[in-house]
Amino acid sequence: MATYTWPRAAPGLRPRAWSGYLVATVVAGVLYFALPPLGAPEWSGAVLYLGICAATPIAIVAGTRRHRPASRRGWRLLAAGQLLITAAEALTYVSEYLAGGFEEPDPSDVLYLSAYPLLALALLTFVRRRTPEWDLASALDATIVAVAAGLACWVFLVHPLATDADSSTVSRVIQGLYPMLDLVLLVITVRMMLGTGVRTPAFGLLVGSVAMLLAADGIWATLSILEVETFVSPLDSLWMASYALMGAAALHPSMRRLDEPSGVATPDASLGRLAILGVAVLVAPGVQVVQDLRGEDVQTPLTAGACAAMLLLVMARMAGMVAAQRRAAITDGLTGLHTRRYFEQCLATEVHRARRTGQPVGLLLVDVDHFKAVNDTYGHPGGDRVLIEVARRLLTSSGEGAVVARFGGEEFALLLPHTGPDGLDTAAERIRRAIGGTPIAVRGETLIRVTVSVGASCLPEHADTPETLVLTADHALYAAKDAGRNRAVVSTAAA
Ligand code: GH3
Ligand code: MG
Ligand code: MG
Repeated sequence: MATYTWPRAAPGLRPRAWSGYLVATVVAGVLYFALPPLGAPEWSGAVLYLGICAATPIAIVAGTRRHRPASRRGWRLLAAGQLLITAAEALTYVSEYLAGGFEEPDPSDVLYLSAYPLLALALLTFVRRRTPEWDLASALDATIVAVAAGLACWVFLVHPLATDADSSTVSRVIQGLYPMLDLVLLVITVRMMLGTGVRTPAFGLLVGSVAMLLAADGIWATLSILEVETFVSPLDSLWMASYALMGAAALHPSMRRLDEPSGVATPDASLGRLAILGVAVLVAPGVQVVQDLRGEDVQTPLTAGACAAMLLLVMARMAGMVAAQRRAAITDGLTGLHTRRYFEQCLATEVHRARRTGQPVGLLLVDVDHFKAVNDTYGHPGGDRVLIEVARRLLTSSGEGAVVARFGGEEFALLLPHTGPDGLDTAAERIRRAIGGTPIAVRGETLIRVTVSVGASCLPEHADTPETLVLTADHALYAAKDAGRNRAVVSTAAA
């Protein structure tokens, strides 16, 4: 999990602007509910609500200017979306108070509905910047959640709203669009939460803001289906909280790091992630049971389709995990070369093939000279840098078809198919020169000369099994060390 260090405030910034802003919005929110019972005029509530709304785009613009994030695109989209929401809220009040009532559909719906794609685009911008390389695992997980949430959203919200016989066609389409746009926001937010990247306070505030918005919208849609009006006013607290958290996210100094590219491509299969996926896969059967108990249409083709899609997505995820595990098992963590285990599998296959076809196969064992001294002088990190560079040089100088592996600590192995006594000496000498020919950066700009000793042997001339091939190359390596190091020695054994 990425760690977070509290950033120092940008020059001229009041470090607690975000918490001051949050406190002010909470006070305004409390007054919104407290004033009407105390006999305050009705417009006071509208002023407070619209004040909180309008403060959000202002806070986003102010936060962006002060903290100067590397890219402003996402924040600009958020501000534009919040501006449209403020205009929509204002228009709703105008319809309610001046035009003497609120009819659905209302012109404000156009503004609300255009705000959501902007918010979704803003979140998508953050997701793309946080994970520049497609994180397929998180994308699949988010799709699993999308299918589950999409099914529940369709069955419980969109379908009842879109088939409400009391509403006009336009009204039905508009009311059905809200949950669908909420769904898009939900999926992108889940993708952002499941993906890798640093979890800063601004990240938490932004995710919290979207969660409040989705909760308020979801409860509102459910209440309008159930035709319950009593709870609609308290719901305003969720919308106000959503706006306040978004403004605070932009004002928080950590907003600068919100879209910082993650260094890790694929996240861990954490317990939280598995819990989310577990709940998601249970949604489809859950929806079926609930609809059955309510005596409503189970919509079998839809629920069965969702189950099937989810199953295939889980299988795709499993296949990805197995492939990743396999990759990890055959790749050395430090150098990126193959592991010894993989090398030994290749060696067995190659020896078998060589025996069958009569073609030779060569083996080089390469050991870094006096490597302990490198560690002693420059520390383990310095030694690691040398090992990484040696591995890179081995790969580039080993020739096509060679299998290059880290055999042990500072020892490497190269399997050279079709290489007999003629080519073996040249190959070993090429490798020795590739490492020792140019100094290696060990710490900062400090360059040191690193040499290697190479032991070479081949089949069928020096050995007739994988084990004896390794043994004869090892003996040759010892001979190179004994002869003074920084040299290549070809085995003299006879198979
Ligand atoms: P020689 O020329 O005889 O091969 O001498 P040497 O010092 O290279 O050989 P020795 O076997 O004495 O030391 C190998 C050292 O490699 C000891 C060990 O601490 C170090 N080593 C093994 N794995 C790693 C690693 O992953 N990173 C670092 N930095 N050092 C490692
Ligand atoms: Mg060594
Ligand atoms: Mg060694």
